[in-house]
Amino acid sequence: MGEIRFDGKVAIVTGAGRGIGRLYALELARRGAAVVVNDLGGSRDGSGRDTAPAQSVVDEIRSFGGKATASFESVATLEGGESIVKTALESFGTVDIVINNAGILADRTILKMSEKDWDIVQDVNLKGSFSVTRAAFPILREKKFGRIVLTSSGSGLYGNFGQTNYAAAKMGLVGFMNALKHEGAKYNITCNTIAPLAGSRLTEDVLPPDLYKKLRAEAIVPLVLYLSSEECKDSGMIFNCAAGWFSRTAMVCAPGVKIGEGMRDISPEEVRDSWSKITSLENAEVLGSLVESFKFIG
Ligand code: NAD
Repeated sequence: MGEIRFDGKVAIVTGAGRGIGRLYALELARRGAAVVVNDLGGSRDGSGRDTAPAQSVVDEIRSFGGKATASFESVATLEGGESIVKTALESFGTVDIVINNAGILADRTILKMSEKDWDIVQDVNLKGSFSVTRAAFPILREKKFGRIVLTSSGSGLYGNFGQTNYAAAKMGLVGFMNALKHEGAKYNITCNTIAPLAGSRLTEDVLPPDLYKKLRAEAIVPLVLYLSSEECKDSGMIFNCAAGWFSRTAMVCAPGVKIGEGMRDISPEEVRDSWSKITSLENAEVLGSLVESFKFIG
């Protein structure tokens, strides 16, 4: 097996001005991709704008002879998504890879969470992935090739205190992927989701200092590059990734229990009496679609 290369491929990386996204952009460019380095240059909570982060990554890529162009648009609107894709088309003529990485935090416990805290986190983390993917999809479909990566979080997959907004947005991406994998399948468009853990400005005061140091952001790059490559045909999967740990994680469905034949009334007491079977994950499996779950209903 040879080196994974991206010659002739055009990649959009959102939120690529800093943190993990910057490293994706650099490595994709080193391996031959032309990269749209998108970043609005905001602060951790999404406020403010600055062209410097995206521009400096573009300069860095060009300094080693790589191909890159900057986009300073926000992913948070459909207009922004269209503009980011337009930049790819105008600069490099096409799009092959979309790495939806832009993300922000506005952590509050639920009683302190304002509508603004809720909305901005959905707009960037969840709608942002829709808006860029939506704009790129017709091109990917037309060329019958596409690699889409979404950035979720263990906060959404498993839960974390004080992040109802962020956790909901990040888990929303799993639903987005579960539907999109079906829409992309016949066009060779894959969509996978990662849940990274890495030292960055998002985590510097969230993670214990010892762990923060161990969690090099570089460790996330190889997974995302493989998922973005032509070689990787898998779609609809979720991966944990941190400090050299790579693991698939999934939503599973257990066989549970069938009470009655579906034709008679069932009492809450029968549910109570079957509770250990209902809550058991024994023989749970990953389902490929909603339709697959119908087999349990009979
Ligand atoms: P980071 O803050 O270093 O980088 C995120 C970048 O996204 C920033 O440069 C920011 O300017 C940009 N951005 C924010 N809003 C944007 C918008 N509307 N449009 C375009 N760009 C925008 O954070 P990071 O740790 O590198 O995070 C990257 C992704 O990984 C995020 O989606 C984050 O939620 C996710 N994530 C990170 C961790 C971690 O441990 N670092 C854990 C779970 C998930």
